[in-house]
Amino acid sequence: MKKHHTFARLALALLGSALLLGWGSAARAADYPNKDKPITLIVPFAAGGPTDRVARDLSEALRKSMGANVVVENDAGGPGGLIGASKLLRSNPDGYTLLVHHIAMGIFPSLVRNLPFKVETDFEYLGMINDVPMTLIGKPQLPANNYKELLTWIAANKGHINLANAGLASASQLCGMLWQASIQVDMTTVPYKGTAPAMTDLIGGQVDLMCDQTTSTTTQIEAKKVKAFGVTTLKRLNIPALKDLPTLDELGDKGFQVTIWHGLYGPKGMPVDVIAKINAGLKAAIKDPEFIKKQEDLGAVVISDKRSDPAEHKKFVVSEIARWSPVIKAANVYAD
Ligand code: ASP
Repeated sequence: MKKHHTFARLALALLGSALLLGWGSAARAADYPNKDKPITLIVPFAAGGPTDRVARDLSEALRKSMGANVVVENDAGGPGGLIGASKLLRSNPDGYTLLVHHIAMGIFPSLVRNLPFKVETDFEYLGMINDVPMTLIGKPQLPANNYKELLTWIAANKGHINLANAGLASASQLCGMLWQASIQVDMTTVPYKGTAPAMTDLIGGQVDLMCDQTTSTTTQIEAKKVKAFGVTTLKRLNIPALKDLPTLDELGDKGFQVTIWHGLYGPKGMPVDVIAKINAGLKAAIKDPEFIKKQEDLGAVVISDKRSDPAEHKKFVVSEIARWSPVIKAANVYAD
């Protein structure tokens, strides 16, 4: 009898704490976002680079659409920004730590052996942000002034050419790898913690070439700090700074096309209503005319299709993993 009594008390206590926990998370979700608690957007690359540019523009738009304090934190390093992505997964799934990441989410599983997480199941998908073309750029000291002259210079300097990137499984590495394969020349790749520090070295002439998103290269090309040789879309871009830049496809690299996409992620286990609030905030942010203009001026195309929905975002990333896997296997490159 006494025993039953003890069990009953224990059961009641457990039920009580379960209800309290439930009410607690419901209350937290109802409060979300708390203006006194900043929402941190992790950028897994160095400040001043293209992913950072997207995140900083987005943080302003989210500040307006969510009425929240949104800050950007750069956690650079590891293949494909692995350090920042892993940091996100160690954070509380409460909606106050999020990640802005790019195509690395689609190439991680093929490029990084012993990946410490599963892209498909360890993240909350919060919606996509934009698609961004890339440009092939070179140091200002290069003698070549157009793609034809660049190919002549490359032929004369085989074995001595440096191609900068943001590390394995980065967008710049993917683009550089595909471009080297298309012209059948192997270059020495020089990895950085993001393409912002790589850009500094390119401008200074320490490295020769780089493939990088227009969200960072447009202003440098416009200022003539680097030489631009081609764009990675099949159609020329319709922005003043890059409208005269030929596509790599029209320059002879038939079918050459690389577009980098960005999305917003959280750690697995976020309350569903917090996910819904962030997604609503993101959808409003990507319709914000100021955000759209800033991105379009840099050649990016803000998402206007169903990929802004979490389920479609996830579907798209899964399809990208399947799309890039055979390409990366054929190239036989990986990171540990
Ligand atoms: N553009 C870089 C990359 O190649 C990332 C960055 O620095 O934002 O992935």
